[in-house]
Amino acid sequence: MARKLLLATRNPHKKKELQRILSDLSIEILTLEEVKDLPEVEENGKTFAENALKKAVAGASASGLICLADDSGLEVDALNGKPGIYSARFAGEYADDRQNNEKLLQMMQGIEEKRRTARFVCAIAVSDPQGRAEVAEGVCEGKIAFAPVGQGGFGYDPLFIPDGFFKSFAELSAEEKNRISHRGMALKKAKPIIKKYFAE
Ligand code: IMP
Repeated sequence: MARKLLLATRNPHKKKELQRILSDLSIEILTLEEVKDLPEVEENGKTFAENALKKAVAGASASGLICLADDSGLEVDALNGKPGIYSARFAGEYADDRQNNEKLLQMMQGIEEKRRTARFVCAIAVSDPQGRAEVAEGVCEGKIAFAPVGQGGFGYDPLFIPDGFFKSFAELSAEEKNRISHRGMALKKAKPIIKKYFAE
């Protein structure tokens, strides 16, 4: 089988992070821009894993390639796990990162530091064109800041202080973030699955 892996994400930031972490595998990585006419997948699963699996299986079956898809988000304890699987559209269907961050800060008003615990979760699914699929999950624990800090990253990065750091995700270099992030952790676990699928 050709050593081509389809990355099923339209989020340019996630794509960049995933490409970077996968760069040590000698596999050609294709993106949705390079493999045209793939169907849009509705993210209507109840968990990150369900959504990631749905995207990976659909991408692999439509393209004939081994396909990797991720679904990720932020779970805030004081908000009973919200925004969770709705992280991308927390402030509305077409909300941007700034609006989502504003809504989160507004809902966290008056919540003291020790109750601002949260975690980023990422599920990565790998599927082959025959529909065989596996999922790996990664988690990064931390706290929600009182105001956005830092210019890097995307999404809720300026509001997330990972445990053991005094900086937000948006202040870390790409290498530092990938080393500890939910996506980095999930991909570490997904790499043996990817290798196995290409070996068979
Ligand atoms: P998805 O594209 O449905 O997986 O939505 C993921 C959403 O969760 C993103 O749009 C961000 O709002 C948030 N998110 C996931 N991973 C990260 C991250 O590494 N940093 C910041 N926000 C993230």
